[in-house]
Amino acid sequence: MLTRLTGGTVLDPSEAAGETSRDLWIEEGRIVAPPEDGRRPDRDYDVTGQLVLPGAIDIHSHIAGGKVNLGRLLAAADHRRNGERAEALLRGGGGLATPSTFITGYRYAAMGYTAVFEPAMVPSNARAAHLEMADVPIVDKGAYVMLGNDEFLLRRLAEGAGQSEINDYVAWMMQATAAHAVKVVNAGGISAFKFNARGLGLDEKGPHHGVTPRIIIRTLARAVHELGVPHPLHVHCNDLGIPGNITTTLATIDAAEGYPIHLTHAQFHCYGTEGRRRFSSAAALLAEAVNRNTNVSIDVGQVVFGPTMTLSGDTQAQFRTRRHAHPDTWISMDIECDGGCGIVPFRYRDRNFVNALQWAIGLELFLLVEDPWRVFLTTDHPNGGPFASYPQLVKLLMEPAWRAECLAQIHSAARKASLLSSLDRRYTLREIAIMTRAAPARSLGLADRGRLTPGALADIAVYAPEPDLEAMFREPALVLKGGAEICRRGRLVAVPMGATQLVRPGYDRQVEKRLRRFFDDHMTIGFAQFPLGQQELAEAGLRLEERECAEAGGRL
Ligand SMILES: [Zn+2]
Repeated sequence: MLTRLTGGTVLDPSEAAGETSRDLWIEEGRIVAPPEDGRRPDRDYDVTGQLVLPGAIDIHSHIAGGKVNLGRLLAAADHRRNGERAEALLRGGGGLATPSTFITGYRYAAMGYTAVFEPAMVPSNARAAHLEMADVPIVDKGAYVMLGNDEFLLRRLAEGAGQSEINDYVAWMMQATAAHAVKVVNAGGISAFKFNARGLGLDEKGPHHGVTPRIIIRTLARAVHELGVPHPLHVHCNDLGIPGNITTTLATIDAAEGYPIHLTHAQFHCYGTEGRRRFSSAAALLAEAVNRNTNVSIDVGQVVFGPTMTLSGDTQAQFRTRRHAHPDTWISMDIECDGGCGIVPFRYRDRNFVNALQWAIGLELFLLVEDPWRVFLTTDHPNGGPFASYPQLVKLLMEPAWRAECLAQIHSAARKASLLSSLDRRYTLREIAIMTRAAPARSLGLADRGRLTPGALADIAVYAPEPDLEAMFREPALVLKGGAEICRRGRLVAVPMGATQLVRPGYDRQVEKRLRRFFDDHMTIGFAQFPLGQQELAEAGLRLEERECAEAGGRL
């Protein structure tokens, strides 16, 4: 079937040209050049004067896995409160912070998002995480496997294993868990928590293995690079949420030694200790480091005022946060020898000094990092706030006057402590399109996404211009997934299932000998049963899309 979008203002963020008024042609789910033989389209959408963008991609959003389910358990009130206005949605589970799988897919698609990445898949929970993600309709998805506190890795690092063995282990684990990328959460700190450590400095030896977070981060960043995995090591730094943690974050950039790294929810990691309250913004310092180090990208993890659920693999940080639980209930747990997780309900308040400054710090980061290819729009859903608030963030970035109005509402001492009133940068549409489409596509190695040139997948969001940018980005006029119409003016018209993105780097099978022994001695699941088989995943209904590794990343 040949489809045409006629008369739209096409903004392809992968191209240097700005908006152009032209028709877009689609065949077999992909964008094609206009037919030269004068063929007529089978289907024609008149989008005259409307903005045509590639589908948006969320690089970091907790949509599946054990901790999301535990979050749902603690979020009954959220589901009741938001269930009634679950716009034309067919099923319950409509909470904002931890919606059901169905509503997660519906809401993302209805906002023009066509791919979402779950950033914290614990290896031993990979099977459940994938089955749950397979239940999220419409959007494509993928998962980052969490390493860096796993017993095997820490033990082998302590025993002096070489880089090539670690590379083989990382590749084996990515294949075994059908992962798209590798994440490290509080390197060494989750392991240390099991031995009663309440923190672990970057150069502090872990209490059990004697391995420092610096070594873990450097080794993993190098492994991911040398294996040619497109997305760099995805790093949740140590000392999350602690005043003064900017020192750790800057040292983490240093620890990467030039290897590509992505610092996630950077807002939670750029705090200073200035002022009477000993809590200040260090966004300028972090932004300066990001601007200078081109091997570094970040996503912000913007705070949004209101109730939400915090869920993290970082048991140390969540154990600290439990004191602020709202309502007063929380969960912390350990999972096999892999990692852990902590769940704490939370309410961000604009009249609370710390929360208000967190809000401002996130915006400072967005505005101070110069290159939109290296800063991504996230709320670390649902940790900083629900993903449904993205349209509001776009408006905050594009409208300095509205930003100033919002700034005037927050805790006055936080307002005075923030640089925000002096930042008049206005994001352009093209910059928004880069940070939400082309940049995540490039960072994740999704060569056929984030652009509108021939060969690209026809994942498309069309927006009707409106004076209120939040309203405009909340409800696209039209959303296509793989060329098929999914959503019109917020109304879903079809619910296809998206594909699971994964990367399968090669490895030397020698590593399996040692792993088998480790599994026999320590794990509750057998070595043969642990890996997810391609056939098993296919039978469970997953459509796998393997992404290529770069030609051996090689040494720097
Ligand atoms: Zn996260």
